[in-house]
Amino acid sequence: MQIIRFHIITQKVPAKYYPLLKELRLEAGKIWSDSLNLFFNLLKKNGNTPNNSTRPLGGVNALKSQVQKAIKSSILHSQTTQAIQDRLFGALKSFFKNKKRNPNVKPPKPRKFYNLIWKNQAVRYQNGKLILPLARTTGIRLSIPLRKRKKEWLEELLRNGAEIRQAEIVFKAFEYRLILLVKETVEINPPDRNKVVALDLGEIHPFVSFDGKEVLIWNGRLLRSYKQLRLKLIALKQKLLAKKQKGSRRWKRIKRSFERQIAKVGRKIEDLEHKLTRAFVNYCKAKGIGTVVIGKVKGIREKAKYNKNANQKIHLMWRFGRLLQKLKYKLEGEGIVVVEEDERYTTQLCPVCGNKYKPKDRNYICPKCGFSYHRDGVGAINLFKRFMEKVSGRLILPVGGLTRPQGVSYSLSSSGWVLPTLRNPLL
Ligand SMILES: [Zn+2]
Repeated sequence: MQIIRFHIITQKVPAKYYPLLKELRLEAGKIWSDSLNLFFNLLKKNGNTPNNSTRPLGGVNALKSQVQKAIKSSILHSQTTQAIQDRLFGALKSFFKNKKRNPNVKPPKPRKFYNLIWKNQAVRYQNGKLILPLARTTGIRLSIPLRKRKKEWLEELLRNGAEIRQAEIVFKAFEYRLILLVKETVEINPPDRNKVVALDLGEIHPFVSFDGKEVLIWNGRLLRSYKQLRLKLIALKQKLLAKKQKGSRRWKRIKRSFERQIAKVGRKIEDLEHKLTRAFVNYCKAKGIGTVVIGKVKGIREKAKYNKNANQKIHLMWRFGRLLQKLKYKLEGEGIVVVEEDERYTTQLCPVCGNKYKPKDRNYICPKCGFSYHRDGVGAINLFKRFMEKVSGRLILPVGGLTRPQGVSYSLSSSGWVLPTLRNPLL
């Protein structure tokens, strides 16, 4: 079975490139804005405006080729220009599509700056450096040295036949970052799909898993503390900025300092999420799991709407979505199938008799049949049961045979989540 994996390698760009990169991002912004303006002018010529139309005459694509012929850069590589225009037309297409449902949706805006993108053949790796060409007439090629660990990682991937698909330079929190997208094709033996684990995703415990025998509670304390720190920094930044004259030197200094710290914590969260999802994938591999059942996230989003602390919740949900994305993509990279299952009431139903009951404390004790278990494991058990009943009819759980839930904790010494039953850290 052939599997395609995408890897993202990211690092800070050395500061000596900043003045040049600023100029280039300005040029990229100009390409974006000029292409956007020309598109609207052509649209007008056809008797359309973004306001009166959900579908421009001749379609967006017909205008795209006209725009691409007319707007070129004498500084950026032709593929960079094309990639920016591809993104712009992607945004325009979704604008016209969304407009059918929501007439108030706004068209893409002109940008002062835009990210620099290099595709496929335009990117080259040579002796520890990434070569990113500009327009031929400039005679300039950016050559950005990779850091030791990133370099080793990339070289290993390239040795295994992987290819660089895209390089992008973004400006975030006052620094330039390089983001490399590497595509790897691997041949694997797909795991047995009949081996199933259910995974309940939550805010207190990021993961609770159940494979029919054991419940594992994946500790999220560290991850949560960074998320809280991030929210605190955001709140403190707002509070301090409100006291200063907007745009003043002190205002700018506070903004800059906080955004840097917030970005740093953000990267820590990213890193932990990668480690957590990697650990879970390794657990699945060690157990030969071929199917992972997760609760449908849609339900969670809907629930979030009714919470009074809506903004914070939506933000958490967004992070949550990213965790799920990372998980899905890593599992798929191992040939493990991800199935979504309706998770309504899974934390309340008794896995044995089906009675609905809201636990009052840490233990779930069914008043009807007496089933008792640690409440945090019930969601995953029910998710597992729901899926198994669908594929194989009725499932009888070994009542009383369920072992107590085990904790999977984060170990500072091995900087990853460690499973007690498998001796080795799941890095
Ligand atoms: Zn019961």
